[in-house]
Amino acid sequence: MNSNNLPGQPHLAYRGNELFSEDIRLSDLAKQYGTPLFVYSKGSMLAALAAYQRGFAGRNIQICYAMKANPTLGVIQVFVQAGCGFDIVSGGDMDRVLAAGGAADKIIFSGVGKTRTEMRRALDAGIGCFNVESEAELEVLNEVALSMGLRAPVSLRVNPNIDPKTHPYISTGLKDSKFGVAHERALQTYQRAAKLAGVRVIGIDCHIGSQITQEEPYLEAVDRMLDLVEAIEAAGIAIHHIDFGGGLGINYNGETPPSADRLWEKLLHKLDSRQFGQRQLMIEPGRSLVGNAGVCLTEVLYLKPGAQKSFCIIDAAMNDLPRPAMYQAFHQIVPLVPRNTSPENWEVVGPVCESGDWIGHDRVLAVQPGDLLAVLSAGAYCMSMASNYNSRGRAAEILVEGNQSHLIHQRETISDQMRGETLLSSMAPETKS
Ligand SMILES: *Cc1c(COP(=O)(O)O)cnc(C)c1O
Repeated sequence: MNSNNLPGQPHLAYRGNELFSEDIRLSDLAKQYGTPLFVYSKGSMLAALAAYQRGFAGRNIQICYAMKANPTLGVIQVFVQAGCGFDIVSGGDMDRVLAAGGAADKIIFSGVGKTRTEMRRALDAGIGCFNVESEAELEVLNEVALSMGLRAPVSLRVNPNIDPKTHPYISTGLKDSKFGVAHERALQTYQRAAKLAGVRVIGIDCHIGSQITQEEPYLEAVDRMLDLVEAIEAAGIAIHHIDFGGGLGINYNGETPPSADRLWEKLLHKLDSRQFGQRQLMIEPGRSLVGNAGVCLTEVLYLKPGAQKSFCIIDAAMNDLPRPAMYQAFHQIVPLVPRNTSPENWEVVGPVCESGDWIGHDRVLAVQPGDLLAVLSAGAYCMSMASNYNSRGRAAEILVEGNQSHLIHQRETISDQMRGETLLSSMAPETKS
């Protein structure tokens, strides 16, 4: 195995009989830092970003990394250095961007439940835009801004009622979704916004879902958005930027999503044909920038062969890799050092006390206890959704850059986990005398 036989994973390749990320031997990292361990390739993130940059060459574009996919400071820094803005969904996200050196005016704030405190802090920091998701939120934002003597820059997230043909939990642009303002109410909500002294309308946005692998939903959404922009502008309200959200899928298991540059070539053609090609454009990609840049390294703890099913118990679990349990998602699982013995079928599961704690069903692997495995496509919505369930500390994270590796997030200790908890004083354990 000398060549890269891992489709969709440009930074990963077997050299000799060892899996490398860029020029780093992954088993070395596992030995040095322990497992489970997330390893991200900076080159792979930048290559994914470059596809968008090629697609938008010559256009007025702001690419806002949707950081909920992976909000670790070292990852944010990569995108700050590359000139990106950020799509955030909480005040905590904003603090992370600012801590990583990102500019407040390149932040756009999405999410259906922004609190007054979050609004105030974001206004104070001078963020670029609030993507408002309901009429009620618009009124509250207006009040908060007025109380500070400011006007909040606002875009309305419009729900174009388009089926992105993805998992129901990651579809966000259908009528019955909690996200966005209904398409039919968009114009009147803009008219209301235009009357409010505490807000300033600057844009429009949509985000129809995640892990979208076809181009049709985007093409439909673009048309519906442009129809709306025409109607809103006909009503005398200027729309400075159009934000098409994120959602482009990645190859987890043979999916063939359009590449970012090809997709945007088509979408821009449509924008051009309707005279919108020179507008200020924005997009909010998350998964497609980081998903396939990451792997999670894990050790095989025990093998438990059975009559019906055989279990391969690994030291990574649903608290580290929640996507299989949450969305029945598929992640490829490969050995760091392949064995020559004949493979068997395994249910790959973690140590957490839940039957839902599986990482891969019916995987064909030649494994022994102590072997190291890599769970692929683990750069997005893994560490960012990790929890402490079963008092498990969250994994460490490494960023690889050529032949350099940087520890960007230490493994969480039990004292990190217990910080902030207090014993009831009346029941405190007696100190030994
Ligand atoms: C999650 C999210 C994104 C990013 O979605 P991906 O599928 O990761 O590209 C973009 N915009 C908004 C508003 C989001 O909630």
